[in-house]
Amino acid sequence: MQTLNETHDPALRSWLASANQAQTDFPIQNLPFAVFRRQGSAEAYRGGVAIGDQILDLAAVAASGVFSGAAAAAVHAATADSLNALMAMAQPVWSALRLALSRALREGAPEQAKLAVCLVPQAVAEYSLPAHIGDYTDFYTSVHHATNIGRQFRPDNPLLPNFKWIPIGYHGRASSIGVSGQRFPRPVGQTMPPGASAPSLGPCKRLDYELEMGIFVGSGNALGKPIAITEAEASVFGMCLLNDWSARDIQAWEYQPLGPFLSKNFASTISPWIVTLEALSPYRVAFTRPTDDPQPLPYLDSPDNSAQGALDIQLEVLLQTQTMRQQDQAATRLTHTSYRHAYWTVAQIVAHHTVNGCNLQPGDLMGTGTLSGPTLDEAGALIELTVGGKQPLTLPNGESRTYLEDGDAVVLRGWCEKPGAARIGFGQCVGTVLPALT
Ligand code: CA
Repeated sequence: MQTLNETHDPALRSWLASANQAQTDFPIQNLPFAVFRRQGSAEAYRGGVAIGDQILDLAAVAASGVFSGAAAAAVHAATADSLNALMAMAQPVWSALRLALSRALREGAPEQAKLAVCLVPQAVAEYSLPAHIGDYTDFYTSVHHATNIGRQFRPDNPLLPNFKWIPIGYHGRASSIGVSGQRFPRPVGQTMPPGASAPSLGPCKRLDYELEMGIFVGSGNALGKPIAITEAEASVFGMCLLNDWSARDIQAWEYQPLGPFLSKNFASTISPWIVTLEALSPYRVAFTRPTDDPQPLPYLDSPDNSAQGALDIQLEVLLQTQTMRQQDQAATRLTHTSYRHAYWTVAQIVAHHTVNGCNLQPGDLMGTGTLSGPTLDEAGALIELTVGGKQPLTLPNGESRTYLEDGDAVVLRGWCEKPGAARIGFGQCVGTVLPALT
């Protein structure tokens, strides 16, 4: 498990002024990765690191020859149009690059002149997916989400008996994952409304978002070789924001007995920036279970996981309807919660996914599942906030919502802050619902 080092020092300042502003998501203590190019250009997509309101172009850095050793090898791997080669490197290599970037971006660094010409403003950038995602697995690790959903179907017994023993998951679809800015048509599917005598095909009427974190696999494992929980975090490259859009009415009809299918695989949206686990180190918190809950089986348990396996990442969901956009009204907040409330940690997710020998590969994406906090106003999906569509939300401009309507844009944001540590953020993850295709 990573500990704090000189790159986390909250007193560090960059020679780039915008990185020193109190509310920036991207101070010198963060240094997240994305794949980008200038908007509307024919440039090749390549890796970049966020610093203040700029992107450090890693292809330009590689050409400059500023770094040497493991950091130079890592920069070279990040010049491609996906970060898979960088992700395939071992954690010490990622860490060497982080240290080299931190030192070269600090006030007074001799590399300033050479790196200043490698900056591209975020305001003129466009992003692609940060990795070629071979496989996508979605988990269900929030006990509050599972309980809120379960209560709607089984008021007396909301939580199924396996939940507190297994990090529940299912295999999702990688091909329809898009980067922030994704716009997709409302899905069409087969539904069976209550009281109907036969199902029919039509546009989804209960379209929802899901507030999740994405976990990008780094080095992975060979087929047949499980990753022990003590090694699990070293195999993870970093985390992003993830909106796992869901068609609740399609899901309700199709999911038994094999689970969600077309209700989930029409679109999933991630933020462009991947924040490394090393950057998140100051925000580790203890992973605890109520004493009368089952304690994790040995393969899901370790002293480090108990002491600091959870992460205090603050998360929020905002909604901007088409009317709000037309009237220049800002998105309105629906939810504020923290990843710390999850029932299973990143390390437990990785250890469980591989315990049967399943191989994870560089660039694979895992979703945490909808992250809801202990109270209903911390819920990470509309199905919870509106109690299954029965209690509409009233928005500040007088509009109301049970589920998403055409033109709605959903914004996810994430950040970490506390006294004694630098505030770091994930940027945002935006997706917009378009009318169904006819
Ligand atoms: Ca999900």
